[in-house]
Amino acid sequence: MFTEARFQSEEAAREHLEMVRWPNGAECPHCGGTERNVRIQGGRAGLWFCGDCRTQFTVTVGTVFERSKVPLNKWLLANHLICSSKKGMSAHQLHRLLGVTYKTAWFMAHRIREAMVPANQGPMGEGGGIVEADETYWGNSNRSKAGKATKKATGRFNGQDKQKIVALVERNGSVRSFHMATVTGRSLKSVLTGNISPTANLMTDDAHFYRRIGKTFASHQAVNHSSGEYSRGDAHTNTVEGFFSILKRGLVGTFHHVAPKHLDRYCQEFNFRYNTRTALGFTDADRARLALKGISGKRLTYRRTKGAQAACTA
Ligand SMILES: [Zn+2]
Repeated sequence: MFTEARFQSEEAAREHLEMVRWPNGAECPHCGGTERNVRIQGGRAGLWFCGDCRTQFTVTVGTVFERSKVPLNKWLLANHLICSSKKGMSAHQLHRLLGVTYKTAWFMAHRIREAMVPANQGPMGEGGGIVEADETYWGNSNRSKAGKATKKATGRFNGQDKQKIVALVERNGSVRSFHMATVTGRSLKSVLTGNISPTANLMTDDAHFYRRIGKTFASHQAVNHSSGEYSRGDAHTNTVEGFFSILKRGLVGTFHHVAPKHLDRYCQEFNFRYNTRTALGFTDADRARLALKGISGKRLTYRRTKGAQAACTA
């Protein structure tokens, strides 16, 4: 696989990216023009000229690859590796495989995660579908400041400062998971009503925050985990728990330490792979192509600033 031309030569990589991003011909990122674009001969590789707004552009302008010094074939390889490994790939692995510095690998992985964030998604469970919602807690409270303070005061860790992740999964469909600062009735309500159709059937465990929110949907069934009940006919949360186990295996096995402020990006990465999983008919190449389609129109929050570099982990 690594021997394919687009992973070996910058020129082949650019051709591949142009084909994926512009299946119907080049599109000017400045004015959206498609009619009067011409390739500039003899200049910098990949340069186009737009006759409508009279500016130059390349296929990476306005994407998460813009202004990167990393050759495009390495970007494509990084993207392929991240898209095809089930549990994700650490910046350390990428650094060794790509022959770029660890910091560069870390920035590349975060930009690729950005590309994996879906554009517009409609409501889940529209027309009577089943959507499971659940929350999980992740992280090591004995490493955090708050955790240490609790231990000092009470003699033990209580886990309250763990990171909170909420996931919504449509049965036989897609997942959306989020890192949340706090999990309360109010914060869950905004996530659930913002993502799930009122015509959906909601399945949760018996956590108290879901009781009132459940009334917003066509139906709500809760399995009574606290009394040892895990399913009752159709009512269960096994699908969302299955997603959490993939996420956690990835976080523990691949990334070792994820700073809380970046956790949501890892959730996005796992959402993307789950939503394009092999069982739904996607191949590794399909997944890589979809991620490449998502490189434009994203906020470039990972500029190479000193402060941001100092903060890099995972
Ligand atoms: Zn233009």
